[in-house]
Amino acid sequence: NKAILLANRPVGKPAESDFKFEDIDMPEAKDGEVLLKTTYVSVDPYLRGRMSDAKSYVPPFELNEPMSSAIIAEVTASNNQDFKAGDYVTAGLAWKLYQTSNGQGLTKVDPSVGLSAYLGVLGMTGLTALMGLQEIGKPKTGETLVVSGAAGAVGSIVGQIGKILGCKVIGIAGSDEKTALLKSKFGFDEAINYKTTKNMQEAIAAAAPDGVDIYFDNVGGDISDAVIFNMNKWGRIAICGTISSYNDTEASQGPRLQPYILKNSMLMQGFIVSNYAEKFPEGVKQLSDWLKAGKLQHAETIVDGFEQIPQAFMDLFEGKNEGKMVVKI
Ligand code: NDP
Repeated sequence: NKAILLANRPVGKPAESDFKFEDIDMPEAKDGEVLLKTTYVSVDPYLRGRMSDAKSYVPPFELNEPMSSAIIAEVTASNNQDFKAGDYVTAGLAWKLYQTSNGQGLTKVDPSVGLSAYLGVLGMTGLTALMGLQEIGKPKTGETLVVSGAAGAVGSIVGQIGKILGCKVIGIAGSDEKTALLKSKFGFDEAINYKTTKNMQEAIAAAAPDGVDIYFDNVGGDISDAVIFNMNKWGRIAICGTISSYNDTEASQGPRLQPYILKNSMLMQGFIVSNYAEKFPEGVKQLSDWLKAGKLQHAETIVDGFEQIPQAFMDLFEGKNEGKMVVKI
């Protein structure tokens, strides 16, 4: 059996040396417990925050203890009446090949849908897209929606929901392959490569001749400033993530947005998906209905092997993923 521990708290970009692989004992399921074999591991940008000890909405990982994230696992032995061998479950679990659980917090998943979907479109990132857009963006037919981090797990779903709800959708992403994918696979109306565009504010103005009504922000920083200065009266900004700053060692500087927000009666609100936990069951139902009806496409970047978990996580900051980054064990 093996585990991946947090070896160091990263300064700036996380590095291979911040993780430690350890051989650990094979556990046995005691009375009331199940033995779980990890099959898919979700790697997510928010884990960067948990690697540092700054106060946040989730507690930091402990040094020299296993890291954890959303995982899909197979029940390989069960002494718990609620589960049987062969069941698949999802939960926040440790980065271990095998572990036991008393069953608390485990949710059974239906393998026929595709197990990894429960880490993406039918899991935390799909719900983040739906909740942030619905509860803060409040899209209306005919409005213009801009999404940053658009080719990622959250962004690709936000843009498609925007289309379903009748918006014009503009995506911002970091490569020509991604901007092509936004239009061909996900049905975005316009897509901008922020790495090759010299003047983002002008590019957004050109893509959104009627101005921007809703901004779903996954990245923060200069990209967001450029979007916000294109927003209309009554514009809504849902701050979902600020990945451009997660590895910063100093706070970045930018223009003062307040006068613009004031003049345009805009609303800017941050959110954590768990704020909407009571809406998750209906949210998952809505996402799976759209998925089954072929209205939602979902992309995954699946990396093979337990040893690849740290690298797959670090690759999120290099934009190596299209859609949800998942490690298959
Ligand atoms: P993604 O699948 O979007 O992966 C991260 C992507 O971010 C990369 O593919 C890359 O795409 C982009 N990126 C990396 N560095 C930068 C940078 N410096 N500037 C701009 N873009 C960058 O991850 P998720 O969909 O899981 O998460 C997206 C955002 O949503 C994150 O900020 C995350 O923290 C946040 N989040 C918030 C939640 C909440 O409850 N509020 C819940 C889940 C996620 P590219 O090639 O385009 O640069």
